[in-house]
Amino acid sequence: MHIYILTLFPQMFQSPLSAGIFKRAIDQKLVSVNIHNIRDYTHDKHHTVDDYAYGGGAGMILKPEPIFEAVESIKSSISLNQGGSMLPIILLTPQGRLFSQQIAYELSKYSHLILICGRYEGVDERVHRHLVTDEISIGDYVLSGGELAAMVVVDAVARLLPGVLGSEASLLDNSHVSGLLEYPQYTRPAVYRGWSVPEVLLSGNHAQIANWRREQAIQRTLERRPELLDKANLGLEEKRLVGRLKKSNLSREFVE
Ligand code: SAH
Repeated sequence: MHIYILTLFPQMFQSPLSAGIFKRAIDQKLVSVNIHNIRDYTHDKHHTVDDYAYGGGAGMILKPEPIFEAVESIKSSISLNQGGSMLPIILLTPQGRLFSQQIAYELSKYSHLILICGRYEGVDERVHRHLVTDEISIGDYVLSGGELAAMVVVDAVARLLPGVLGSEASLLDNSHVSGLLEYPQYTRPAVYRGWSVPEVLLSGNHAQIANWRREQAIQRTLERRPELLDKANLGLEEKRLVGRLKKSNLSREFVE
């Protein structure tokens, strides 16, 4: 996958891209990240990228010209494979659709992605309307720039690409992948400060362990993010389990 990021602060991307899974993925050429400075697409002496808002108000707005030109220049430099598969041009904005594991999956299917990072009071509306194909928010809060949001998106997408994670299996149980939160995990020592690892995990009985984990994942999701259960893809047995857990939680509350 080839990722293009438009930003006014290219240096922000250096360290996240040079550590861990990401570095390995780049070294192995599973993913390439090309950072473009929006300022390089200006034509005036001062390399102006922002201007006052029409109608007044505090703060500066990113001008449309350098952003359009940067995207057009990137577009003309890449040749999409057969079928001319769509090229997502994504603006990071608190007004976008809320990022999720599902969207990360969706994006991981493309061969190229362009991400645009806003700054200041945001970007000229014509970028929203006439340039981008998608707008993504990483949460209901306001950041001072799109860079951290772009990193979040790129990280979540890159780890889904084939070969990027050591073991594909490790993807499956993760929180949000199955629609549930992940079950509790333990490593050695078996007893730490008197706190023991649950017996079943030491039993070596794989079927029992799988059951326990599924039950814990459901229990945990029910406690922390009950709204996820409505959307989760549960089997009949699991739906019954949810029913039982709900009931027993209710009766526990009643006793307390
Ligand atoms: N005035 C704008 C916010 C500007 S914040 C508004 O109210 O919509 C400056 C830049 O930070 C934005 O252009 C965007 O690129 C980025 N940003 C801020 N919060 C974000 C979020 N939750 N998700 C993604 N990008 C965000």
